[in-house]
Amino acid sequence: MSDKWVVLCDFDGTITFDETFVEILTRFAPDLSSELIPRMYNLSLTLKEGVRTIMESIESIHYSEMLEMISRAPIRKGFNEMLGMMSSCQIPFLIVTGGVSEFVRAALKEKPEGVLSIYGMTVDYSGPYLKVDSPLQSDSELVSKVRLLDQFPGARSVCIGDSVTDLQLALRCDFVISRGRLSSYLLERNVPFFPFEDFFDVSRILENLICKPQWRSLERS
Ligand SMILES: [Mg+2]
Repeated sequence: MSDKWVVLCDFDGTITFDETFVEILTRFAPDLSSELIPRMYNLSLTLKEGVRTIMESIESIHYSEMLEMISRAPIRKGFNEMLGMMSSCQIPFLIVTGGVSEFVRAALKEKPEGVLSIYGMTVDYSGPYLKVDSPLQSDSELVSKVRLLDQFPGARSVCIGDSVTDLQLALRCDFVISRGRLSSYLLERNVPFFPFEDFFDVSRILENLICKPQWRSLERS
């Protein structure tokens, strides 16, 4: 059994306490958001089409307000303590957001120690309206988290998430730590998961799964 692990963690509604990306879209594009977000949640509209349509309807002049709004977002309890535990176990911990990578940096005040990398959409605000792009696109997603997982062949994977942008990744990961809407999607599909409410819960789960030395030596024998 592989001794290598990777942990991929969502941002909005997972690291942040609230569904911050949805709140931002709803604030700056209320009509399109109310029309398209429910369709993304019920899987009748792709994330790629829905998120791009809403984001690219927003005037670039609002981008700094969006950054300001996300920089005040409350972070779920225990996040820094969990990062410390992950660092001591030397497990790669990556943040992959279905939203905007710069929003993650704004909320966390750059990349915290213990986070290997941050992935998500990029935003070009040089024109009159926002334009979005992403290095991890698929046919249906602007940020295909599965494509990031594919960069760690042979590693045992854990994903942490809360909503529809985590669903495809959760269906592929070895272990899922879930809350919110993602838990409902997984229950419907009979996919097992560890529930969590804060990062103290996540720490306990990761410690038991990955970091317990006796567990790892048993696994090797
Ligand atoms: Mg989320």
